[in-house]
Amino acid sequence: MPKPVCYSAKAYLTPNATTPLAPATIERRQPLEKDVRIQILFCGVCHSDLHFARNEWGFTPFPCVPGHEIVGRVTEVGGGVTKFKVGDTVGVGCLIDSCRTCPSCRTGLEQYCDKGLEGGTYGGVDKYLGGPTLGGYSQSIVVTEDFVLRMPANLDLASAAPLLCAGITTYSPLRHWKVGPGQKVGIVGLGGLGHMAVKFARAFGAHVVLFTTSPGKVADAKRVGAHEVVVSTDEAQMQAQAGSFDLVLDAVSATHDINAYLNLLKRDGNLVLVGVPPEPMPLAALPLIFRRRSFSGSLIGGLPETQEMLDFCGEHNITCDIEMIRMEQINDAYERMLKSDVKYRFVIDMASLQ
Ligand code: NAP
Ligand code: ZN
Ligand code: ZN
Repeated sequence: MPKPVCYSAKAYLTPNATTPLAPATIERRQPLEKDVRIQILFCGVCHSDLHFARNEWGFTPFPCVPGHEIVGRVTEVGGGVTKFKVGDTVGVGCLIDSCRTCPSCRTGLEQYCDKGLEGGTYGGVDKYLGGPTLGGYSQSIVVTEDFVLRMPANLDLASAAPLLCAGITTYSPLRHWKVGPGQKVGIVGLGGLGHMAVKFARAFGAHVVLFTTSPGKVADAKRVGAHEVVVSTDEAQMQAQAGSFDLVLDAVSATHDINAYLNLLKRDGNLVLVGVPPEPMPLAALPLIFRRRSFSGSLIGGLPETQEMLDFCGEHNITCDIEMIRMEQINDAYERMLKSDVKYRFVIDMASLQ
């Protein structure tokens, strides 16, 4: 394929795992037949951005421009675009493409594509320009219309940006395992994902218990919807909850004792991991085998479910609790994220990059 015509855009980029993010100019393709060009207004800051920019998972292709919680305005469309027009407010999450032919893609579970995550918004394979795909810490992005989402008109755009990853990553497993009334659900970690998990589990009608290592977050956890809050470093508080949960969703970004959370489950209960600590975590056999418990994982969500989640948030007025930053504050924001000091998602005001 000949290289398409390109334009340049400002972005924040790192050339390797140890250099802070810094201003750079990148290339984007001019919209092709099915492409939508989006002026990025806000981009959420996911802990995965930090893991990835610092190559903590060991497979980052550089250069790296993170950012996969993108909202913005359509400024140009290709001749074959039917779903969007100039001026629409839209979202882009963790995926900008997939093989579209494997069984997962054909059922709208593009995140589990048999070909892997080549269609990742950043760190994927840019089949038009070569090299890795570059994400949302940027003025604009060009995406094929099938991977662009409609934003509900009633939601504050900045507060809705983190729905594109933190939202769908927690919505999807709670829906998949049919969380609802009569169930007791635990959420581990009140960060970007965790606070959205509390909101969704509550909206789905479950009894919600939030587990935190930060005693200072107890009041906020209740405000965002937890019925109970447990400080997980307090052994007595943990013991009091043993054997009582239908499902526990673990959204912790660092290595921790997962066996403590298996012990919280009832018979046939399920511990779902969405957090991706870089180091392996030892799993004890006995807490699993006793009471026939399950241990599982879940990855973001496919395009149809992401749209469903956004529409659900529009109907129920659900958004994220955000702290707005300017683009040049990103490296400090990463340091604060490492200290669990985010209330509860940083969102970059992309006007600060213009
Ligand atoms: P975050 O905002 O930094 O929140 C992580 C939370 O984990 C912290 O707020 C803290 O909560 C808790 N925590 C941190 N260090 C801990 C430790 N050493 N021990 C126990 N708890 C600790 O991160 P995030 O953006 O929500 O992302 C969470 C994880 O999910 C990351 O690993 C990210 O890469 C991953 N992720 C996965 C998917 C997926 O598809 N599966 C998608 C997006 C992100 P407390 O202060 O309440 O203890
Ligand atoms: Zn993410
Ligand atoms: Zn596929």
